[in-house]
Amino acid sequence: MSRPASQTILSNTAAPCDAPAGGRQPILHQRGQHEVFCGLTSIIWLHRKMQDAFFLIVGSRTCAHLMQSAAGVMIFAEPRFATAIIEERDLSGMADLHDELDAVVARLLKRRPDIRMLVLVGSCPSEVIKLDLSRAAERLNREHAPDRRVIAYSGSGIETTFTQGEDSFLATLVEECPAAEADAAPSLVVAGSLADVVEDQFSRIFQALGIDNVAFLPTRRSDRLPAIGPNTRFLLAQPFLNEASKMLERRGATHIPALFPLGEEGTTAWLKAASDAFGVDPARFAAVTAPGRERARKALESYAETLSGKRIFFFPDSQLEPALARFLSREAGMGLTEVGSPYLHRRHLAAELDLLPEDVVLSEGQDVERQIDRCHEADPDLIVCGLGLANPFEAKGYATKWSIELVFTPIQGYEQAGDLAELFARPLRRRAALKVEV
Ligand code: SF4
Repeated sequence: MSRPASQTILSNTAAPCDAPAGGRQPILHQRGQHEVFCGLTSIIWLHRKMQDAFFLIVGSRTCAHLMQSAAGVMIFAEPRFATAIIEERDLSGMADLHDELDAVVARLLKRRPDIRMLVLVGSCPSEVIKLDLSRAAERLNREHAPDRRVIAYSGSGIETTFTQGEDSFLATLVEECPAAEADAAPSLVVAGSLADVVEDQFSRIFQALGIDNVAFLPTRRSDRLPAIGPNTRFLLAQPFLNEASKMLERRGATHIPALFPLGEEGTTAWLKAASDAFGVDPARFAAVTAPGRERARKALESYAETLSGKRIFFFPDSQLEPALARFLSREAGMGLTEVGSPYLHRRHLAAELDLLPEDVVLSEGQDVERQIDRCHEADPDLIVCGLGLANPFEAKGYATKWSIELVFTPIQGYEQAGDLAELFARPLRRRAALKVEV
């Protein structure tokens, strides 16, 4: 493995297909060389969210290097993740991998008695050598339960792209949730990690709306997993939760379709979908949300001058792209050229895609060279892309926005609508400020 921060996968480029209804152009399906993170990177925000969990990657030095680069300064704060490195003697069969893993886990748990949930994370190397981490988790669970839970999921680059690592983790976490009785009181599960500050804001709004049996997944503590059953409804806070949604549905929960809570419009639609599902009186909904909506609209006004009329191009990264594009086009007046996403889950994105202008190019997957060509042709004012593409584009005179910040920054909800616009306005303002007139 020689791609610590991005993968390069070579295969054919598929022809465009999938013609949606209406006047929209067909969605471009791209396969080829792509520049994206693997799912291990989601551990960076997951370990901060779940405060008593430890993520033990079973991988190679490449995986450890990736985590070290992605975590930046966090690496010096004794974070709750590490890599159990598969050595040559493991690969050559000189050592029993399961015994080695058991010994590493025993040492780790002895050193970190605060760990309540140990999460074994599969990588490309562990998958290629067919190391069965689910079986290892079961065995370790027998040994360390009830004080510690051990679970396993895959964050490998073969199976997951960036935020899909969270999807895989949440799907596994949902399996761990207790079962709710068939006659249990109706409950709401908000799936998808949100910054604590955003979670607290939404909790207060749900409370004011009279929806009080609400849990956020992942929970902050592993022993507070919500019970799930036929009276559970779930709302997605993030667009990349395909497997987790399937698992929630398998456990009997019902999905509440909604826009994602980005911007004033998205947040209102998201809260409204939950309110309608829980029979909240429309007048109460209007009264509770009015101050937040007003604050969000006001905050956005100050960005109109910088963003309005500017054209933006999205490279695929996190699956947040369609919702971000909807926000930027409808609330900030930006023009959309291409909106790329690693995957487009049509069911979860139906409402988002309906609100995008018909002339926008939607692309799924990536063939990076071709996409760069299309980007040059579109000649946008702002390019949203990964760190590997940003500086080369800047050197060619384009303004860029690093897509990774959109995952690490609190951007959901009314109070963050202005901050979200700011993330896109900043590179444009900086470029204008640095322009030298000749
Ligand atoms: S999981 Fe795979 S893609 Fe990710 S760092 Fe490890 S080897 Fe590279």
